Amino acid sequence: MIQALDPNVEHTLILIKPDAYRRGLTGEILARFERKGYRLAALKVVVADEQTLREHYAEHASKHFFTELASYMASAPMVVAALAGEQVVAGARTLVGATQPTTADPGTIRGDFGRDWGSGCVENVIHASDSRAAAERELAIWFPELA
Ligand code: UDP
Ligand code: MG
Repeated sequence: MIQALDPNVEHTLILIKPDAYRRGLTGEILARFERKGYRLAALKVVVADEQTLREHYAEHASKHFFTELASYMASAPMVVAALAGEQVVAGARTLVGATQPTTADPGTIRGDFGRDWGSGCVENVIHASDSRAAAERELAIWFPELA
């Protein structure tokens, strides 16, 4: 049976993006969140469809890079996870690091596992919600079954 998310606990959404999934980095990345002390509350493997990506990246849907971004995000399966714990939204963003993998700090997930592949799109290994409001919105998009 699917366990609904506990409304009294803070959650965030992470997407282990297709570049990382393809490279077999899923386990290593999830391990970092567990080692930090966050709990895996939900987990699945999905291939994203365009409509879901448009919703997820609503703030970027009209930007010049959206077409490239959508095709990158649908280029292979992704691992979608809900992480739980006090301050997990901010904590996950700290573990993830800056958007550009070339300059993301070493020690962060993007800094350690990401690089520029010259693909015309920022392939940066992982997504994490950037605020509590975003986390709530994004969890509803990727885990409608847990609402
Ligand atoms: N992105 C891109 N080109 C850009 C900016 C962003 O391909 O010029 C992609 C990148 O994968 C990034 C995502 O769009 O992670 C969302 O961008 P945002 O600025 O919200 O970065 P994030 O919150 O993921 O660090
Ligand atoms: Mg963002």
